[in-house]
Amino acid sequence: MQPMNAPLSASGWLSQAILRIEADYLRSADTHLIPLRLPVFAADGIDLYLKDESTHPTGSLKHRLARSLFLYALCNGWIAEGTTIVEASSGSTAVSEAYFARLLGLPFVAVMPRSTSPEKAAQIAFHGGRCHFVAHAGQVYDEARTLAEQCGGHYMDQFTYAERATDWRGNNNIAESMFQQMARERHPVPSWIVVGAGTGGTSATIGRYLRFRRHATQVCVADPEGSVFSAFHASGDATLTAPGSRIEGIGRPRVEPSFVRTLVDRMIEVPDLESIAAMRSLSALLGRKVGPSTGTNFVGMLALAGEMRASGQQGSILSLLCDAGERYLPSYHDAEWVRRTFGDIDEAQRRIDAALAG
Ligand SMILES: *Cc1c(COP(=O)(O)O)cnc(C)c1O
Repeated sequence: MQPMNAPLSASGWLSQAILRIEADYLRSADTHLIPLRLPVFAADGIDLYLKDESTHPTGSLKHRLARSLFLYALCNGWIAEGTTIVEASSGSTAVSEAYFARLLGLPFVAVMPRSTSPEKAAQIAFHGGRCHFVAHAGQVYDEARTLAEQCGGHYMDQFTYAERATDWRGNNNIAESMFQQMARERHPVPSWIVVGAGTGGTSATIGRYLRFRRHATQVCVADPEGSVFSAFHASGDATLTAPGSRIEGIGRPRVEPSFVRTLVDRMIEVPDLESIAAMRSLSALLGRKVGPSTGTNFVGMLALAGEMRASGQQGSILSLLCDAGERYLPSYHDAEWVRRTFGDIDEAQRRIDAALAG
């Protein structure tokens, strides 16, 4: 028996690397689909569900992406024994990629904005990765590319490859898993699936799967303030830029190649304070803390549920619990930090409370 993280031997390195990722996958379980029992909507035949992506070994939906990106790069011959892996990230992807890099015995460097939560940086270090900070979110791409060139490493480039590294037809991707888990529910085919967009990979995978399986489900992207995606969705102009998002993990300053506009049926722009208020309300409902991008998703779900109720439409709405709140205790879950960073939350909280009260 080989110890788990023993060095892969030089001969057949690629084959062993793929085997090691497959073995890791076989040891993993699927993530739960949690019914959100909200009487205010359930009484009118509208059911809400969250797929809990926080339970992956590295704590977020990016575990799926990291696995896919590594397999894609390995099968393309872009990674070999000793290759340094470099990634541009707002944090979660880097945590998951650091995990897979260590599994394969490869050095890993994460290029991230200085504002990234220290908890994520600590987790990258925990998995043996190195953090390299830049001042602004828009600088991560060039910096990561340059670093990779300098050390002869590989720039993973999630913002380009997320949409194509994942098997969109199935292979137990997130969409196929959702539909399997909904099979015995009263509305098994959702009216809406609501997601945020960071790379845009999740919305692309779900959107393609829906079309391929000929489901009537529509995809809604809940987009935070300062993100370019909403304006791009409306205009189709890929040269647009924006200031960038203050909700970690979602919303981008530039149009990412992985965001496929034609796969998104609807955009909902979500003010930051509503994202945070919804994050708090949802945390209270679930009895455990969720991250801010999950709050953004919840705002989108509440808006769509309200519209369905108003038009007498019954059905289900699915979204993602992207990561847990523990990564954000000193920030989004700290009332004083929120007031300093975003201002007074009371009005936004009243709007979310009103939506939940019906
Ligand atoms: C990346 C990320 C998202 C968005 O997912 P994409 O597939 O990259 O669009 C949402 N929430 C969190 C916490 C993330 O890290």
